[in-house]
Amino acid sequence: MKNLGKNAADNKKNNRGKVLGLIATGRCRTRRDLVDLMGLTKVTISNIVSDFQEKGILIEDEKLSLDKAGRRPVNIKISPSAPRIVGLLVIRDRVEVVLCDFYLHIEYREKVILEHPTEQELIRIICRLVENAIGKAEKVIGIGVSSLGPVDSGDGIIMEPPYFYGIGRLPIVSILETKFSLPVRIHQDNESGALEEYYYGNGKGHESLMLVGIERGVGCGIIKDGKIYSGFHRLSPEIGHVSIDYKGRKCICGNRGCMELYVNSEELKARFEKTFGKGKSLEEYISMQDIPEMDELMDDIMEKLAAGISSTINLLNLDLVILGYDGAYISEKYLNLLERKINKRVFNSSRMTVVVKKPYYLQDAQLLGAVCNILQAVFDGDINIP
Ligand SMILES: [Zn+2]
Repeated sequence: MKNLGKNAADNKKNNRGKVLGLIATGRCRTRRDLVDLMGLTKVTISNIVSDFQEKGILIEDEKLSLDKAGRRPVNIKISPSAPRIVGLLVIRDRVEVVLCDFYLHIEYREKVILEHPTEQELIRIICRLVENAIGKAEKVIGIGVSSLGPVDSGDGIIMEPPYFYGIGRLPIVSILETKFSLPVRIHQDNESGALEEYYYGNGKGHESLMLVGIERGVGCGIIKDGKIYSGFHRLSPEIGHVSIDYKGRKCICGNRGCMELYVNSEELKARFEKTFGKGKSLEEYISMQDIPEMDELMDDIMEKLAAGISSTINLLNLDLVILGYDGAYISEKYLNLLERKINKRVFNSSRMTVVVKKPYYLQDAQLLGAVCNILQAVFDGDINIP
């Protein structure tokens, strides 16, 4: 009996979280939508919605036009008085914080560029930014962290990222939980970005997708059946270390010909500088097009990306690839080229077309992904809104 009681309580929490998720991400707008999508009774949905209304988390506003049955449904929205979420991005060059509502609207943001901080300095910067963001809201439900990898998201630790000022094994989740007495959730930056695109961005309508972040290394986050796909110790998959040449250059990981050796941001910039001369940012080079030398260079770069990405797709059968960080600067013309190259290489291409896009939130995907680490826990009923 005890277990039955526990299961019923869990179901209730899950259903409440799911209602918030469906409203916040725009998948449902009315009580009728919720009944249809969740397969619950009208009474159950009504009870949940009314309870959230009483607590100032949901509001019902304008009446929509007549539905098929001749009724005039009422639009449900997240209330402006609902609590806010703090998102924190920790990457090699900067720490950035945002305060968002459930719709992922940014109400406050602040960043600090990192200049070889010690571990203690980094912790001080992080705590100051989070404190500033919390101070801008009446009520905060949690702090989401999106960090350069490797990240042990189970234990809440930033492991030992290469080239990160010698800082490693940082128990960031326990540091923030202790200081702010709020729930904290962490994932690697591209996993967080993939989650953001799944809930709010260009991944809407897909149950599985991969975000590939091109920067000093090449990382990825994979959403499989609506959840972050991870392995041992919840470490993220490492697409950058998929080999595209088994006799190729030796990589720090021990393998040869890893994709990231050929398509990381520094390597790409060096190739553009060699062809077009120095003086431009990577963004400026990448946005050049309709120049024969650029077409030739990008053809080779896209071929290399297609080789690594299609190997991963063949393992997991994903149908959406989103290119983030510096990859988000790539023009539509070359994204389409990459899409064609991937589809030529994918085994199931007769049954599945792989689509390649930029993140909806472009350079903010990983930052807003931090917020989504908390939102997902709310939508799953893992963090309860009092
Ligand atoms: Zn490698």
